[in-house]
Formats: sequence, C-alpha cells, structure tokens
Amino acid sequence: MADVIKLLPDHVANQIAAGEVVQRPASVVKELLENAIDAEATLIKLIVKDGGKTLIQVVDNGKGMSGPDARLTFERHATSKISSASDLFNLRTKGFRGEALASIAAIAHVDMQTRISNEELGTHIKIEGSKVISQEVVATPVGTSISVKNLFFNIPARRNFLKSNQVELRHIMDEFHRVALVHPSIAFHLFNNGSEIFNLSHTGPRQRITHVFGSKMEERLVPVDEETDVVRISGFVTKPEFAKKSRGEQFFFANDRFIKSPYLHHAVVAAFEGLIKTDTLPGYFLHLQVDPKTIDINIHPTKTEVKFDDEHTLYAILRSTIKHSLGQFNVAPILDFERDSNLDTPYAYQGKEAIIPKITVDASFNPFDSSASKKAEPRFSGKKSTEGWENLYKGLENLDSGPPVSSYEIESDTEIQSSLYSENEWVQEKGFTFQLQRKYLVSTVKSGLLVIHQNRAHERVLFEKFLGEITVEKGLGQQLLFPLDVSFTPSERTLLKEIHDSLVNVGFVFENLEQETVKVTAVPAILSESKIGMVLDHLIAGYKEGLREDVFSQAEILAKELAKNLAIKTGESLDEDSQMALVNDLFACKEPTLSPTLKKTYTILYESDLDKRLL
Ligand code: ADP
Ligand code: MG
Repeated sequence: MADVIKLLPDHVANQIAAGEVVQRPASVVKELLENAIDAEATLIKLIVKDGGKTLIQVVDNGKGMSGPDARLTFERHATSKISSASDLFNLRTKGFRGEALASIAAIAHVDMQTRISNEELGTHIKIEGSKVISQEVVATPVGTSISVKNLFFNIPARRNFLKSNQVELRHIMDEFHRVALVHPSIAFHLFNNGSEIFNLSHTGPRQRITHVFGSKMEERLVPVDEETDVVRISGFVTKPEFAKKSRGEQFFFANDRFIKSPYLHHAVVAAFEGLIKTDTLPGYFLHLQVDPKTIDINIHPTKTEVKFDDEHTLYAILRSTIKHSLGQFNVAPILDFERDSNLDTPYAYQGKEAIIPKITVDASFNPFDSSASKKAEPRFSGKKSTEGWENLYKGLENLDSGPPVSSYEIESDTEIQSSLYSENEWVQEKGFTFQLQRKYLVSTVKSGLLVIHQNRAHERVLFEKFLGEITVEKGLGQQLLFPLDVSFTPSERTLLKEIHDSLVNVGFVFENLEQETVKVTAVPAILSESKIGMVLDHLIAGYKEGLREDVFSQAEILAKELAKNLAIKTGESLDEDSQMALVNDLFACKEPTLSPTLKKTYTILYESDLDKRLL
C-alpha cells in the first residue's frame, strides 16, 4: 500500500487549532484583551457589532509591534512570551501558546495596525483566512488596534451554530467582566453597536467591582485578605444575606487569570455553611496568588481550567480565611432563615397601614336555641369552637346510605350546607376546597381526593397567562400612583432593554431607560409595589441565567421568571374564593399537570388507594 500520511498545510492546521481556541466571538474577545494586557496597555477599548459576529475590535495603548513582528505574530506558535519549555513554569503573562492570532486569522478577516514607540510609522496588515492580503506602512498611534470581522466566514457550520446577537453579547460581556475585574488599574471601554456600555476608569479593586456590578454592590462586600506560605488570598465575598439563587457573581482569579474551579467553589460555599440557604450562592471575587511553579495553566487551550499542586491545602486555607473574614466583619449571626415564613407580611398587605383588629360578637347568639344555631353553622377550621358542637353529628345518622364525605361538608359554607342533604353529589357539581398546611389545596373529583400544590399550580397559571400576553395578546398593567425609581448597572440595563418589549406586554411601563435610574410607572396588576425592585432584579438575573443555558425563547424565560416570582407561595393562606379560583384556573390551563419547571402540580388519591390504606 502506498504511503498515506501527509503533513497538513499550515492554514488547515490553523483552522483546526481555531476550533479549540475560538468557540464563539467571546473567545476572540478574551484573546485580544489578554494580548493587550500582556502588552502593558493602560487603556483598552473593546468595540463589538452584532454580538461580535460582524466586528470585534480591540484598541490598546500598549507596546505595539515592529513591522516584522507584526507579520510573524500570525504564524502558529509565534510568541514573544516564552522561549523555552522551562519558561512554562514561570509564567507571568496571560498568553504563551502563540496560537491565538494565527487561529483567529485562519477563520476571519483580520485588520491590524500597530506601532512601537521608537518608530515613527507603524504597520498595517490585512489577513483573510490565513492569507496575507496586504502589508503597508501607516501613520498610527503607539499601541495596537486589531479588528476581527466576519468570524467563521469560511466555516459556515460554525457560523450557523452561533446563538443570537444578544446571547453572544452576553458571553462577550462575561469575558469582559472577567478581564476588567482583575485589572482595575487599566481603564476599559466597551461599545456595542455604537453605544458605550461600560466606561471603567483606572481605579482600585473594590471600586472596579462596584463599577461593573453597580453601586448597590458597595454595601455587600466583605474584604478577604490572607497571606500564607502557599498562597496569598485577597478580594471580596458578598455578605450572606445577599446570596442569590442565580450564578453570575462568582469569580476566582489565579495569578491574575480568571479560572473555573468547582473544587475551590465548594470551599467558599462551605465557609458560608449555615449562613445561607442551600439553594443560594454567595458572590465572590477572590484572587489567589501562588508561585507560578505550583500551578499548571497548560491543561486547557482557553486556560480557564488550571491545576494547582496542592489543592487540598488551598481548599482548607480558603475556607478558613473566608470564615474568618465573615466572623471579623460580624456578618455571621444575623441571619435566621428557619424563621416561620407565615410571620412575613403577606404580599397584598405589604406597605399598607395596619388596621386595628375589631372583634365582632353576635350578641344574640344562643347555642341552645336550635333555630339560631342553624344560622351559625360551625366549621372545623373556623374560630367558632364548641358552640353548636352537636351539629357535628348532623348527617351522621344517614352515614350508611349517604356519601362518606358528609362529615367534611360541615366545613363548607352555610349556604352550601343548606342544600347538603338534598344533593348528594354537590361535591362534583359545585366543588369544594380546603387548604392543608398552607401548602396544598384539597378537593374532590369523581374518582377520589384531589391534592393540588398551591405554589406550583399558581406558577402554571401565571406562566400561561404571561406567555400569552408576551406572545399573543398584550396584558393590562396598573398605573403606579407614584413612579418608582429603580437603579440598574450597565449590564443589567442592556438586558432590561432586550426584554423591554416583553415586559411592556405584561404591563410594565418604563421611563429613562438610558439612565442609571430607571422610572417604573406601571406594573402588572398582580405585582405589589413593594416587590417591584426585587422582581425586576430577579427577572433580569433569571433572564441572564436562561441565556447562559442558551434557552432560545425570551418569552418563555420571562414568563417562567414572572410566574416564579409572583406565584402564591407555600405558607400563604388563601380564602375559599381564592382557592376555588386557583383550582378552576389550573384546570383551564393547556398543561395543568406540570409546573413551568416541570414538577407535578397535583395528584389524585383514588378511592382504591384509600381502600388499601384502610384494610
Ligand atoms: P500569545 O499571546 O500566546 O503569545 P498570540 O497569538 O495571542 O500568542 O500573540 C502572538 C504574539 O503577538 C504575542 O506573543 C505578542 O508578542 C504579539 N501581540 C499580540 N497582540 C499584541 C498586542 N495587542 N500588542 C503587542 N503585541 C501583541
Ligand atoms: Mg495571546
């Protein structure tokens, strides 16, 4: 057989390498920002269009490159950062593999202008799919500007695989945050489709966090600082009461590089044990400085997964350092989440003035007068207690022939009770419900006992309502008497603008969308005023989370989030009308059996189940 093995031409090898380095526009952003930082820039501008699909440009005021270097940089394994294998164990720079630019140039149109300070003129190079189109001398400031256009132009499969512009922009912003948070001394700008989303001036670590995540972050941060032989830990964690259900504010940096480490994440969460609910996460911004010899950053092309020599020690130190910080700043003992949620003011009453309770006594009531006791029929669940107790036995005399539910019927309304003995089947006709443990609504159906999970059922009802309003027919909002000011960070505002139209459909009205403080002038009728800020925060966080998981439909994410936030919770007590309304609404749904998060909304205890239990 003839020889079949060939060496791949460089441009093919580059395309293959690009597959690993460049997954999406955000990967290009990461590489270009890191190169600018390695070039010691103090001011970096990132400009993107259409989620980076059309344009990603990074302009820096760093060292720049000489003409020959500018050309060489697009070769594979061309790097100024290491020159021997031993350098790998003493890395101080972000890059070192020398493949980013070669990879990017293999799959996009790249245009670069660069100049070093001791030359008058700079270099302008254009490369398309690894082919140098032109190289000219140009007048340009010291530093480098690289534009990457039409990413994946020659790999349609990959281009088609990209998500919507909004989703890609989210990923870009995530990368931008990661880089900006480690380098507060560098000024960063981010422009998207011509408008400036971030303008981060040169500052300190704490201010950088608040510039990125908003001034409300200021009061939430607890500093962490510890130096040992193995590691220096610095940064911040958020106070336990600000732990969130959504991910997004968890950052580890190892030697100034953003890293992912489920193991160390666990250490942080362990430090918060007993202080936060199990389904919430603390925010953290933690910098670990270790000897470069003790860390291997080489194990993944995007370099976010690293290997520490002694992870176990690191875990222990991290956990105790954070515990110490939380203790020192006295944030440990104030939380009590075992508190009975029934003591919280119910939704509809928040912000309202307390009404002094009045006791009404029926002075004419005489328990021994049988005509009066008929009127004031007792209920099991009512406050009327032993008066009229003999009524409990009413109906028992015909227990054999009557339906076994007759003893329950005493709980229902007097009005219904009057027809009790004439219509054995009222249960099916009118329906009745009662609430069990403020969690379940119990009712009957022909075949048995219906038990509905009130929270999940209401989530289903609201989910379908909001989904309809967003996609089919606009819902009505309720005008606020006094417009409410809610402040947002730049990235929250970008998200808010993305979901604006859907929110308007469900009844929100916003003003000043361009400013840090947005005015809310109307909200969905079901949303009480005191919850507006919280619900909007959750909506944005939930939407972001949904995007992260690449759920496609914005309407679905929002309807789910709205339903989750506004649904009746476990622990809320419901009057009979609300119970009935909820049961009816649930069964009017298209998919009554499951909550929007795909959990069962109800179950039926069949007669045969009961028979078995009573054997
Ligand atoms: P690496 O960063 O791993 O060295 P890259 O392909 O990202 O590989 O870059 C190759 C080389 O190009 C770098 O080592 C650096 O010398 C040079 N370079 C890239 N970007 C810049 C920049 N913005 N300013 C100055 N030099 C740069
Ligand atoms: Mg690089």
